[in-house]
Amino acid sequence: MSKQFYMPTRIVFGTDCVQENSSLLKVIGKKAFIVTGVSSSKNNGSLDDVLKALETESIEYELYDKVLNNPNIQNVYEGADIARTCGADFIIAIGGGSPMDAAKAISVVAAQSISQKSLFLSNYYKNTLPVVAIPTTSGTGAEATQYAILTNIREQTKTAMASDVLFPVLAFLDASYTATLGLTTTINTAMDALSHAVEGMLSVRATFISDALAEESIRLIMSCAPFLIEAKDRSSLHPLSEEVREKLLYASFLAGTVIAQTATTAVHAMGYSLTYFKGIDHGRANGLLLGSFMNILKKEAPQRVQKICSVMNMPDVSFFLMMVDKLLGEKELVTPEEIAQFSQKAIKTKHILNGIVKLKEEDIIEIYSSVFNG
Ligand code: NAP
Ligand code: ZN
Repeated sequence: MSKQFYMPTRIVFGTDCVQENSSLLKVIGKKAFIVTGVSSSKNNGSLDDVLKALETESIEYELYDKVLNNPNIQNVYEGADIARTCGADFIIAIGGGSPMDAAKAISVVAAQSISQKSLFLSNYYKNTLPVVAIPTTSGTGAEATQYAILTNIREQTKTAMASDVLFPVLAFLDASYTATLGLTTTINTAMDALSHAVEGMLSVRATFISDALAEESIRLIMSCAPFLIEAKDRSSLHPLSEEVREKLLYASFLAGTVIAQTATTAVHAMGYSLTYFKGIDHGRANGLLLGSFMNILKKEAPQRVQKICSVMNMPDVSFFLMMVDKLLGEKELVTPEEIAQFSQKAIKTKHILNGIVKLKEEDIIEIYSSVFNG
């Protein structure tokens, strides 16, 4: 059977890469709509660098700094309204997955009239504004994916907009922006990236190319894990070397390219309820579920799971579970009733069909239960 690989984003790496490559912005547009979270981009140097680059290239801009964590549809329509009114012809997203996803969604809504009901239907995305992405967390890889994940209050979950037109045209990866990340966000986002790489290897859409990228991503994250565990023991991240932060950012990008090919599987479907109903951070939710998910898959796909363990340089899944326990600490309280409710939602998602093992509802209940009541 034939295989495909598609990732159209130009990626520029390295310290100071925004300023050094400001000319790349000039060919994209004349008026930038900058989309950020509330404060981090003002404190980590990323927004300053973008403003200087825009000044160098004489590009006008409007700033929208109101994106919430787990952005919602209202956020997107508000941003799109302002983008349209100010006449922006491209978007620069700065921040974690939340601003990057909001920016991608804004790029669709600003470019045409689209009702909230049709927002998740990609055949309505006739036009988009080009998006430039500047990640400041090392987790989502959203700079290299065609997804924008939004909180969907109507469905009581998180739902993906998915279309090739949502790939950013350009991404700048400068790990110096991640120096201000706190310990918890650094660990949670690393868990998200790891989950993307591992789920990618457990997807029916995995290919030899996505596997190669996933394996490298897993190796990089595992090589950083001892530093994160040490930081967790000390309750302080600093100093986390530049080399480690660069590895984490690169690994996150690689894992993004993986899920751009493979999509995610049951772990993400299950994690969405933990985020929506329990407020558990996205990466943490995935990290909590990943080991138990691998344990369940081991029954029907032992060689594949063992392959992942060997890439992790671990004898088996139990070692991974111990590592996650150290990194993520005490777990939240999730009741059996909640587990039943979340499992009913997860089993209906397309993520389940995307796994190399088709989980049943009782498998999903077992995964949640072993994490939260094990
Ligand atoms: P996030 O929600 O974007 O940001 C979490 C927090 O980190 C925010 O408070 C943010 O502050 C802060 N922050 C960001 N960069 C920082 C820095 N350099 N220093 C200090 N604080 C910083 O977190 P995320 O984990 O990156 O993104 C999660 C979202 O991405 C979820 O909605 C998830 O569903 C989505 N996601 C998308 C994809 C995709 O392919 N599109 C893949 C996986 C996950 P500010 O608000 O002030 O910026
Ligand atoms: Zn994720």
